[in-house]
Amino acid sequence: MTSMVAPPGQASSWRERCPDCGETVEVSASQDFFLDEVHWHVQRQCTSCEFLTVACGVGETPDELRRLILAEHGPAVLTITGEPLGSLRTMKAVRDVLGVPFSEVRRSAERLRSDGVVGTLAEMERLGSRLEDAGLEIAVATG
Ligand SMILES: [Zn+2]
Repeated sequence: MTSMVAPPGQASSWRERCPDCGETVEVSASQDFFLDEVHWHVQRQCTSCEFLTVACGVGETPDELRRLILAEHGPAVLTITGEPLGSLRTMKAVRDVLGVPFSEVRRSAERLRSDGVVGTLAEMERLGSRLEDAGLEIAVATG
C-alpha cells in the first residue's frame, strides 16, 4: 500500500530579508523521493507581515536548492552491485534507465559499478528505484 504522506526527506532552512517590509523571512526548503518521483518544496514566510510564497515541483529541482541540500546533507552515491558487469540485464537496464546510446552503455555500466553516480539522496533513490525495477541490485551511500 502506498502512503500519501511524504517522508521528511532532506531539508534546509535559512533567512532572507522580506521584499515587502524589510523584516525577516524564514525560508524552509526540502527535497524528497516519494510516489516514485523527486519532489521539492520551498516556502518563504515573513515573521512580521503577510508575505508568504510557496513553490514546489516534481522532477527537476532548482539548482540553488540542490546546492543547498548537497551542502547541508552531503552527496549520495549510487552504485550497482551484484550482477556481472557485462550481463545482458545490466546492459539493458543501464541503456533503458539512463538513456545512454548503445556505444556508451558499457562505459556507463563500468562507471556505475566503480565510481557510481553522485547526486542528492532523493535523486539517487529515484534512479535506484528505476534500476531496481529493471532487475539490478544497487546501493546508495551517504555521508
Ligand atoms: Zn514582511
